Amino acid sequence: MNELTIMSQCFAQVRRAAKASPMYREKFAGLPVETMMTREQFETLPFTTKQDLRDAYPMGMQCVPNEEIVRVHSSSGTTGMPVIMPYSAQDIEDWAVMMERCYQFAGVTTADRIQITPGFGLWTAGLGFQAGAERLGAMVIPTGAGNTDRQLQLMRDLEASVLIGTSSYALVIAEEVDKRGMRGDIHLKRGIFGSERWGDKIRERIYETLGIEFFDIYGLTEIYGPGIAIDCHEHTGMHYFNDYIYCEIIDPETGRVLPDSEQGEIVITTFRKEAAPLIRYRTRDISRIIPGECPCGSPFPRLDRIVGRSDDMIKIKGTNIYPAQVEEILKQIEGFSSEYRIVLENEELRDRMIVQAEMKEGYDPENLAETLVRECKSGIGIRVVPQVMKIGELPRSEKKTQRVVDNRY
Ligand code: ZN
Repeated sequence: MNELTIMSQCFAQVRRAAKASPMYREKFAGLPVETMMTREQFETLPFTTKQDLRDAYPMGMQCVPNEEIVRVHSSSGTTGMPVIMPYSAQDIEDWAVMMERCYQFAGVTTADRIQITPGFGLWTAGLGFQAGAERLGAMVIPTGAGNTDRQLQLMRDLEASVLIGTSSYALVIAEEVDKRGMRGDIHLKRGIFGSERWGDKIRERIYETLGIEFFDIYGLTEIYGPGIAIDCHEHTGMHYFNDYIYCEIIDPETGRVLPDSEQGEIVITTFRKEAAPLIRYRTRDISRIIPGECPCGSPFPRLDRIVGRSDDMIKIKGTNIYPAQVEEILKQIEGFSSEYRIVLENEELRDRMIVQAEMKEGYDPENLAETLVRECKSGIGIRVVPQVMKIGELPRSEKKTQRVVDNRY
């Protein structure tokens, strides 16, 4: 789709939302949305944030009459109010179309048996994968979340060929397969993993154990759910479906729209969503739009792998850094394991960034420390203080590992 078509659809959505949704009636009050036409004008519209959606609880963003709503989903709501997203029948259908495309990008066919390990219910993931698979015509094993014993039993007995899940759960499965000596019993060929940022070390461990090709899928409950973007067999970034969503990349600090290839926060407009359209929704996810066409030939543009959350951004010595950039550097240096931590301190009013990283056995810590300093200087432009540690020295967490400790005052 060309920019003109996309813009006219975006503005049609803006005008609809400004009339029908209580949330946007308030947000767009006084703005000349009836006469706006250009991308420059679009970029002057206010952002929509997760807080707006919380404030609109339960159904303040609703844009269609009650009779047209067929389902609601909800985001996990770890803090405060949950966010409820209503869907029309057309929204559910559109989402299934995108999900089906995702399977096709991953090379999944009707011959496949898809084991869906994300939860079914208020959370969007399970049902989205289910709907796309049914549209495609593949067989689904809808195990849902948890119960690893049963997951492995069904995976083996029903000869599942595609595994759907979070990357961390895929890692749990991989490690259990290994521990139980089940490699020969597993028929998996592909994995579609998403919903969290994951480094290459985790990928390698899953690959080593399961030997499958895997695909990153992207999405968020506020915008349909998973399935708005996926990487193709070239693995050079995730194709996003620009006939349903419009993506902008902004500087998370200033809100300025950045040119293609520059890294910043993904902002999404859903120009076909009926029940709860979102205009310029700040995802907090950090990525970039990859310029040019993918070698696979698909006309859908690409987002790069998600490198972090804009909330994770570290400001040090006037530079914006994401922990994932440090992770990327560590990964390139032979001898470091996957565990690391960034500690920020001030010393005599000057910021100091300490990088603590665990070393595999049999390497020279001094040598590794020197390499780390050199690579950080050239990679992120910061002179770091290296602390090379033994395996197991850094704290482990069952949940999300805290990668950044800010001790600055
Ligand atoms: Zn491609």
